Amino acid sequence: MDGMATTIPELIPRRDWALFLDIDGTLLDLAETPNAVVVPEGLLTALVRAAKALDGALALVSGRAVADIDALFHPLQLPAAGIHGFELRPKSGPPRRVAALMTPAQRERLITAAIGLKGVIVEDKAGAVAFHYRLASDVREVLARRIEAVLEEDDLKEFDMRPGKMIWEVRRNGIDKGKAVEALMADPPFRGRVPVFVGDDETDLDGFAGARRQGGLALPVRDLTPGPGFEGPAEVRAWLAKLPLHLAEKVSA
Ligand SMILES: [Mg+2]
Repeated sequence: MDGMATTIPELIPRRDWALFLDIDGTLLDLAETPNAVVVPEGLLTALVRAAKALDGALALVSGRAVADIDALFHPLQLPAAGIHGFELRPKSGPPRRVAALMTPAQRERLITAAIGLKGVIVEDKAGAVAFHYRLASDVREVLARRIEAVLEEDDLKEFDMRPGKMIWEVRRNGIDKGKAVEALMADPPFRGRVPVFVGDDETDLDGFAGARRQGGLALPVRDLTPGPGFEGPAEVRAWLAKLPLHLAEKVSA
């Protein structure tokens, strides 16, 4: 960069990148509920081509479980970190969990925080519990206080609550997208590359930090961090679709 303000779509990708992509709000437009998202035509092809151009060093890093990610992008099975890094899947196949699941009792206790709050959608991911309040934004603070109260209990001390876009998420302390990046970077095809993390939400700030700890870059969507960023998922998708062309040009130059 030459000191002029550079928007991210103008940032030229490099062949030695390892790309870590958040899904919701980054690759996909947000929807009213997590199940209502749409995978646009052409995105699977763009992902396959970008992954190939990076020798496979492309991973999805999401709050969704890996099984959910696979269902969404079927028949693709990209390297992935699910539930913010609670699940790691460096290659195809089932993911491995980096910590114990929540017990049924812990999950049941947490879910009680949403009782009587109309419009709150509770997503029990076994390794984490997400409370979506997009359909009931006025309950944000009440819901937060209730979740906090449950987390005071001795049995739930090793969990904490994190904010996201219209979501409160409870997960085990010490698990985040930055640690997921570092874990994936330890092995091929990621090892030795420059990690580049693209994300739109609070939880992606951990991913940004993880990428930077490994000498990499953080590419925000919308106004997640000050400075240049992608306008939105459509711009990320367009950029991703063009990425192999940039890399091919560099090779032939
Ligand atoms: Mg997101």
